[in-house]
Amino acid sequence: MSTPQLPGDIEAFRASARAFIETTLPALPSKSEIDSDDRPSISLFTERAAELAAVGAARQWRAAKFDAGFGWLSGPVAYGGAGLPEEYERHYAAVELGYDVPPEDSFATGLEGLGQTILQHGSDHLKELLLRRIFRGDLITCLLFSEPGAGSDLASVRTKAVREGGGDWVVNGQKVWSSRTHYADLGLLLARTGTEDERGRGITAFLVDIDSPGLQVRPLVEMTGDAGFNEIFLDGVRIPDDRRLGDLGGGWAIYLAIMAASRDALARSRRRGGRGGLAAVASAERVAGVLQRLGKQDVPTLRQDWARLYIHYKVNQLTSERLAAEWSEPNAAAAARAMGKLALSDAMSAAAQLVAQALGPRILADTGEIDSFDWQPFLLQTPAFHIGGGTDQIMRNLIAERGLGLPR
Ligand SMILES: Cc1cc2nc3c(=O)[nH]c(=O)nc-3n(C[C@H](O)[C@H](O)[C@H](O)COP(=O)(O)OP(=O)(O)OC[C@H]3O[C@@H](n4cnc5c(N)ncnc54)[C@H](O)[C@@H]3O)c2cc1C
Repeated sequence: MSTPQLPGDIEAFRASARAFIETTLPALPSKSEIDSDDRPSISLFTERAAELAAVGAARQWRAAKFDAGFGWLSGPVAYGGAGLPEEYERHYAAVELGYDVPPEDSFATGLEGLGQTILQHGSDHLKELLLRRIFRGDLITCLLFSEPGAGSDLASVRTKAVREGGGDWVVNGQKVWSSRTHYADLGLLLARTGTEDERGRGITAFLVDIDSPGLQVRPLVEMTGDAGFNEIFLDGVRIPDDRRLGDLGGGWAIYLAIMAASRDALARSRRRGGRGGLAAVASAERVAGVLQRLGKQDVPTLRQDWARLYIHYKVNQLTSERLAAEWSEPNAAAAARAMGKLALSDAMSAAAQLVAQALGPRILADTGEIDSFDWQPFLLQTPAFHIGGGTDQIMRNLIAERGLGLPR
């Protein structure tokens, strides 16, 4: 299918984006059809049941957007992109912010990192096979990196891939903490193809179908009571060599490329779906609203904490803007991404603590009062943000080594 021609003139482009959104949105299932719960959701991660209920509408939206030419504006025409400069992505995102479009979190791995990584490192076969389907939302993707003995120290991955003659790879091992795998179609798997002494150099990346025989996905229940993650067991899973991403032993470069892209997206707090970014979930304004409704806006300690929260968010926003505008040197950019992630994680924890302090015991019981129990998921989820995508300590190491040039 050929990519539709979009106007090059920015104003005409924005008008065509608005027209597309306004004609497409009414045809999608409404929020009340998907989720009958009208209480405000103050949550960083969508609950498993709600995520599954919403994924159909999200796929419909992504497909419509891609078919209209807006799904991969800066991507190459050969693989379904519109071939336009990066600035058109920003113009489209700005237009989309004005509408309540379905969230696209389900596609985050593909849109924010894997798609670009396949474009840079994949064979022509993989590009042909996957890129269009990833950006159209036909394929939901996930990351199969972490293992019980390999998280921060991912170079100690033990899941083993052995090639049978000159044919398929056969994989055995276990992965853990994998988001979205319970409804994903495709996983990016890091497996050991060399020896353990080789550390990162002995790891290769593969794209594995989640419904492959021998691959089992089991939910992991967290302290929130929900199961946002999964553990994955691989028992004799066969992967053809043409599903290898990058060189034999080149898995580390793939890992670095994906992590850089996802921290970049996180640091800019860019959340696909036009809802104003992760920072908007518990923005300083939203927290101020809680204090006002509780009549606690004049309590001096809460006012001070609120001012600190506002500064946290502002620092994150300014760091993100500087990252986008200035830092192209790879080490500085890596350190800047890490700083952005740390600032956002700290801001969200500060917001959770402030709201918990203001609400007191009300945050623990579902009395039906506005603001009370609705904040509980956010309070319980914020610690995860200090871990996922690289822990705070690892981010600090990264800033020290790559940003400040301190010894390892
Ligand atoms: C929300 C979320 C989503 C996730 N999604 C995925 C996913 O989709 N796919 C996937 O594969 N994984 C995923 N993960 C897993 C995540 O990548 C790991 O949890 C993370 O890398 C930390 O690894 P670990 O849990 O094994 O902790 P460990 O690495 O065991 O760390 C334990 C503690 O030791 C500290 N530490 C470790 N090494 C050092 C060091 N060198 N210097 C200083 N301190 C150190 C850490 O900071 C941490 O405090 C996700 C995690 C979360 C929370």
